[in-house]
Amino acid sequence: MSVTNRIKISKKEFEQHLIAKYAVNGATLEAYVHDERCWDDYGNEGFKRLTLYYQVDTPRWNRHCATWMAGEGWEFKQYDDNGQRLTDCCGCFSTYHDDELVCRACYQQVGVGQGDGAEEKEMV
Ligand SMILES: [Zn+2]
Repeated sequence: MSVTNRIKISKKEFEQHLIAKYAVNGATLEAYVHDERCWDDYGNEGFKRLTLYYQVDTPRWNRHCATWMAGEGWEFKQYDDNGQRLTDCCGCFSTYHDDELVCRACYQQVGVGQGDGAEEKEMV
């Protein structure tokens, strides 16, 4: 999966940011703790503890939107049902306004590829 933002903040701040961004329009944010098996350089088995965040709009869909591990948070790029990339800020389409590409939901400037149809999900 492709990563869009690495955020250097505390887990609590990261979760507050995720709730403000994803627990909107009737959706909720759910967190799942997942221990992933891994091995160190000496072959000793251990576990990496991941916290996986899902944006859930019951009963219609849920989407893995972010992960926290070892003091760092990641958010994933957002796509619409047709695989077209949406803006990182709001998960919306964008539009050109005075030569600047802006998000149609919040009107903040966004990078090329976010919501303008130029970037599509890589097929796995
Ligand atoms: Zn926006």
